[in-house]
Amino acid sequence: MNAPRFDTQLIHAGEIEPRVLGAVSMPIFQTAMFEYGGETSYHDLRYIRLNNTPNHQVLHAKLAALERAEAALVTASGMAAISTALLAILKPGDHLLVQDCLYGGTHDLVHGDLATLGIASDPIDAARPETWKAKLRPTTRAIHVETISNPLMRVPDLAAVVRFAREQRLVSLIDNTFASPLCFQAAAAGFDLSLHSATKYLNGHNDLVAGAVIGRRELVAKVTKKLNHLGGSLDPHACFLLHRGIKTLGVRMRHQCGSALTIARFLAGHAGIESVNYPGLENHPQHALAKAALAGFGGMLSFEVKGGVEAAARFMQRTRLPAKAPSLGGVESLLTRPATTSHLGMSPEERRRTGITDSLVRLSVGIEDPGDLVEDLDQALRG
Ligand SMILES: *Cc1c(COP(=O)(O)O)cnc(C)c1O
Repeated sequence: MNAPRFDTQLIHAGEIEPRVLGAVSMPIFQTAMFEYGGETSYHDLRYIRLNNTPNHQVLHAKLAALERAEAALVTASGMAAISTALLAILKPGDHLLVQDCLYGGTHDLVHGDLATLGIASDPIDAARPETWKAKLRPTTRAIHVETISNPLMRVPDLAAVVRFAREQRLVSLIDNTFASPLCFQAAAAGFDLSLHSATKYLNGHNDLVAGAVIGRRELVAKVTKKLNHLGGSLDPHACFLLHRGIKTLGVRMRHQCGSALTIARFLAGHAGIESVNYPGLENHPQHALAKAALAGFGGMLSFEVKGGVEAAARFMQRTRLPAKAPSLGGVESLLTRPATTSHLGMSPEERRRTGITDSLVRLSVGIEDPGDLVEDLDQALRG
């Protein structure tokens, strides 16, 4: 048999053979510790915080297979994955290159917490590789980008990031949350570490918080040891829910990518809309890059409603199907204004500089019928 394809891996990769007492779905091992089995390293003792119960191990093997990576690790949240990975790789005195428009939590971590620890950083325009070299310092150790940035849906020159990191001997990290392994297999594309908020597409049901680190074995081992000490481990019950969610990633997200393109085209042609940010639209500044690098353009889009903040707020109130809530990637469509939620941690000045206006609206497309979503957005815009 040939190597199984993506949707088959979602179901079968990493599963325990033979099945546990014949159970078709992986049971929850809700036990904090396991009997001592002669382990010679602290990190091998079997204990939930040490990320090595059967529920962890199955997820690690499955996630690694999804990005054709050597290893993977699940964490208590996306931020636990990002903070633990960065702390495992960087030490005081080191320097980090980061994409100029980052997820709000990562932005605060890098420019606040890491800076306090003596880890410096400089922002880069991730779509312009010719500008990166000038930002290097003798202490630069790593480069961190996001596959599709939040909330403006910009796409870095992903192949150039991998090349640059290799040439300059930097660890390359990517927050692959918005693409998920369905649209971009970051580890297979050469990134050293692919980080995920599994809260989003990987789980896909808006009902838990989790994270993942996928990539090179030796680096994942380093992050695991750091996580063992910092303690951001995923509980077995949440492991079970994440495991169940991952199995349907393909069927969910392909639908979401298709609906997002339909909705983006509808909005782009609507008289009440100023502009639409979606990498699948031909006029997106990195459409060609995205088309070459990604297997899908994702289920996230953002747009400006004509008439400013009041019009945007009125439009949001009039929509009926999407819940007005932050977060993304689940089966329910979610609508938010990033300036009031995900990017509230940024100063108004920083938001302005990165192009996040107060009237920008972000839609996470769920798995509802796209025709109903379009009709709902249309009636809300007409009001
Ligand atoms: C949500 C999100 C995070 C943080 O993940 P949590 O699971 O909420 O900790 C990080 N990066 C991106 C791109 C996200 O969307």
